[in-house]
Amino acid sequence: MRQEDRAAIDNMRIDGIKPPAIAAALGLSVNTVYTHIRRHPDIPNTRTCRYCGRPVIQPRGNRAKKYCSDSCRNAWWNSHQDQVNRKAYYHLVCQYCGKEFESYGNKNRKYCCRACYVAALRKRSVQL
Ligand SMILES: [Zn+2]
Ligand SMILES: [Zn+2]
Repeated sequence: MRQEDRAAIDNMRIDGIKPPAIAAALGLSVNTVYTHIRRHPDIPNTRTCRYCGRPVIQPRGNRAKKYCSDSCRNAWWNSHQDQVNRKAYYHLVCQYCGKEFESYGNKNRKYCCRACYVAALRKRSVQL
């Protein structure tokens, strides 16, 4: 298990979230979560930073702080950008060679590569 998973499990235990819900939220198996809890039966009383794992001092009465600093929060979001942007990939079929290809951010692409694009143009000009 990754260090960041361990920290995430402990942070959710502090919030009183039950192991099956923790497992589902983190994409881990319930057994993995129970194993961790068996090895670390005491719920830590400080949260750890979601990014760097350092303890985060909790402000009294306020919402839980998940990061020790703004720079860690930004760094966490930046390092998870690919998960956020994953949706921007489109699976398309090349109109020239018929091969499937991935297009980033543009669902209107017609060709998998420049060579297919050029070949398709040439074919069309021959037909005209
Ligand atoms: Zn941090
Ligand atoms: Zn192609």
